[in-house]
Amino acid sequence: QSMRVAFLGLGNMGGPMAANLIAAGHTVVGFDLSDAALAHAAEHGVQPVDSARAAVDGADAVITMLPSGAIVKAVYSDVLPVAAEGTVFIDSSTISVEDARHVNEQALAAGMRQVDAPVSGGVKGATAGTLAFMVGGDDSSVAAADPVLEPMAGKVVPCGGSGNGQAAKLCNNMILAVQQIAVGEAFVLAEKLGLADQALYDVVTGATGNCWALHTNCPVPGPVPTAPSENDYKPGFATALMNKDLGLAMDAVAATGSTAPLGSHAAGLYAAYAAEHGHLDFSAIIDTLR
Ligand code: NAD
Repeated sequence: QSMRVAFLGLGNMGGPMAANLIAAGHTVVGFDLSDAALAHAAEHGVQPVDSARAAVDGADAVITMLPSGAIVKAVYSDVLPVAAEGTVFIDSSTISVEDARHVNEQALAAGMRQVDAPVSGGVKGATAGTLAFMVGGDDSSVAAADPVLEPMAGKVVPCGGSGNGQAAKLCNNMILAVQQIAVGEAFVLAEKLGLADQALYDVVTGATGNCWALHTNCPVPGPVPTAPSENDYKPGFATALMNKDLGLAMDAVAATGSTAPLGSHAAGLYAAYAAEHGHLDFSAIIDTLR
């Protein structure tokens, strides 16, 4: 069934996500503060309007794909008064669990349905319509969001109540950061021991140390032709974005009084690396280990 979807934030991720909604037969009305982003989205069939409120007026669903929690909160405060009761709000930005639960309460109090639905898969997944959505919210909101997410998704994983999608995302990326550093350390040690990169790759991909950071995002050129290491560490998943996600993870570790010695160490290493190399794929951190 064709819906009218308001799309707020048509950047690197939002632009191609909106294009997949249009390809699935939905009407997408979009707003972005950047004229260039809005014009680019219009080329893919998004109906551009000049404010977030104008996009939300008359929409069945509202998707936000914005840089930060502070911006998501500001946009919700702006648009909730003009949304029709029962509209489903989907926030796919990566923001803190706390901010996600805050905007959820705000939306529900205004008579809306709302989920947090952060993604993994990057610009590649957004373009291909194969993003993995991690969804947090009450049952009615999750059910209402599902048909909107489907055209953009490879899979949609319900994670429980509001904020749990963001919780899943930050836990995954904390694991990933630790693994990418660990894999880098192993290659550097192997090099010093005289073990060839390819031999280490062949052994570990068939052994218990195997992981995505190795089999897909191999930090040394050679074994994996599609890895960013083959392409001067052009992302991929940029160090700046990993650093942002680790910041959210560390906030959550602090807020919950959790103990995460390896995640915390990885966050420190990525914060330092991001200061100068934020634009490189996060596997490039191997260079600081040599
Ligand atoms: P981006 O910077 O390319 O896009 C964000 C867009 O939001 C920009 O076009 C900006 O102009 C617009 N914007 C900012 N404030 C606005 C406002 N008040 N109203 C309307 N538009 C506004 O970022 P992106 O890479 O598309 O990422 C978006 C979100 O998705 C972030 O939270 C990011 O952490 C998350 N994410 C990104 C990736 C990735 O690989 N790029 C992967 C997973 C998740």
